[in-house]
Amino acid sequence: MNKTEKMAQQLLAEFGIDTPPVPVEDIAKQKGAKLSFEPFEGKDDISGLLFRDKNNVIIGINSAHPRNRQRFSIAHELGHLFLHDKELFVDKVVKLNFRDSVSSAAIDTKEIAANAFAAELLMPKQFIQNEIYKIIKKSLSLNKEELIEKLAVIFEVSKQAMEYRLTNLGILHGQ
Ligand SMILES: [Zn+2]
Repeated sequence: MNKTEKMAQQLLAEFGIDTPPVPVEDIAKQKGAKLSFEPFEGKDDISGLLFRDKNNVIIGINSAHPRNRQRFSIAHELGHLFLHDKELFVDKVVKLNFRDSVSSAAIDTKEIAANAFAAELLMPKQFIQNEIYKIIKKSLSLNKEELIEKLAVIFEVSKQAMEYRLTNLGILHGQ
């Protein structure tokens, strides 16, 4: 298990969370972050930011974005909070698509780590395996899109984030 995985799992254990959806807002608040939901007018491409000084930790979230994306942004900023010590991170919308690996965001190791942390926190491997098992017990005839959609609803993440996670876990194979 790597460092990001371990940190995400420790958080889940600390809060006694063992089923989806992971209450990421509560976790952020319990960890002392102030959440500020703002439309970031004129700055649609900003998904979230993390600011901290001696007294405050503020996570700003673009409230104009869909709720599931806001959840991922909070988890991403928590990743920066726990893994990195820079004072300010401003995050632009990053395509999660793995084919986009040459974009500057994707080669920034801090961004990769924060995204990995967010995925581990919101979509823990064990939770995904449990939910897939439950879904398959009910119906064996699901296609890939239906499976992604069902899991995205259960975990309250975007379909894109779920597809990316399932691919990374080796549950889905890239097309
Ligand atoms: Zn970031």
